[in-house]
Amino acid sequence: MATEKNEAGKKADIDISVVIPLYNEEESLPELEAWIRRVMDENGFSYEIIFVNDGSTDRSQEVIEALAQSNPHIHGICFRRNYGKSPALNTGFARAAGRVVITMDADLQDSPDEIPELYRMITEDRYDLVSGYKQKRYDPLSKTLPTKLFNATARKVSGIKNLHDFNCGLKAYRSTVVKHIEVYGDMHRYIPYLAKLAGFNHIGEKVVQHRARKYGKTKFGLNRFVHGYLDLATLWFTGKFGGKPMHFFGLWGSLMFLLGFISVIIVGAVKLYNMYSHNQYTLVTDSPYFYIALVTMILGCQLFLAGFIGELIVRNSSGRNHYEIDSEF
Ligand code: UDP
Ligand code: MG
Repeated sequence: MATEKNEAGKKADIDISVVIPLYNEEESLPELEAWIRRVMDENGFSYEIIFVNDGSTDRSQEVIEALAQSNPHIHGICFRRNYGKSPALNTGFARAAGRVVITMDADLQDSPDEIPELYRMITEDRYDLVSGYKQKRYDPLSKTLPTKLFNATARKVSGIKNLHDFNCGLKAYRSTVVKHIEVYGDMHRYIPYLAKLAGFNHIGEKVVQHRARKYGKTKFGLNRFVHGYLDLATLWFTGKFGGKPMHFFGLWGSLMFLLGFISVIIVGAVKLYNMYSHNQYTLVTDSPYFYIALVTMILGCQLFLAGFIGELIVRNSSGRNHYEIDSEF
């Protein structure tokens, strides 16, 4: 296989690291491991499998330990409690030593047969990241329909127009990508967006086979869509204004204040006009513009203050002047 330098500048002798986050998947693991091993052996890849046990309460840990006895390529990381898929992926990424890192779910919904082509797309087509696309899904309609909407929004907001399935568990990365992104909270749904924000623009997609869940049940309920949208808003905001919050809050604060100011002028002008024209006039508090002025001027001040506080936080953050330099000469 091609020789490339890994992050530490050493010659990486592992072609592929497979990172598998898992939570209570004891039944699937032996089958998954055997399948990955078969694919790796058939294609002559050097590999490692990193099982990240996300605080499973079933026998998953014992199963991983038993598998590791017979396969030296297996590494296990066991969380003390259930943190979530993103922390599990992030921890796996930190340990991965392969030139190409492939993530897949542990529930056998993703097929290891996709690995060779994903590997080729990273090493030969020079993609930074290749995301799987479950074009034909074996999931209930209650999941597939909102997923379509969710992906359309994610495409729009992130600007990654060629992806149809942001949250596919099966993805391949150039090693350097996973070392330069931080997946936290529930941000695993947006890893391509995180990669793009970190400057990795060559993002591709591969249609992959999807299978129905054979054992166990899904770990995410319908609230995944609510959380998904909130996280997307967070990423959009931090990506755009994370380093300069005043540009967001200051703009909206000014607009609010301006609206209030115009309302005050209208209220005052109408009253003065009526007074001097000897028309009948009422109290300013009887005008709806008075309340609009009051609310928007207070909101404008609040937004400005939020902007100042945001700037103070940025000024004190350790990453405020941290830039990834691609090359220097
Ligand atoms: N998972 C995890 N931690 C969690 C929830 C899920 O590591 O808190 C793993 C899970 O075991 C599986 C993958 O994330 O390997 C995807 O989960 P699931 O199959 O439930 O998601 P779905 O296919 O329904 O999107
Ligand atoms: Mg699944």
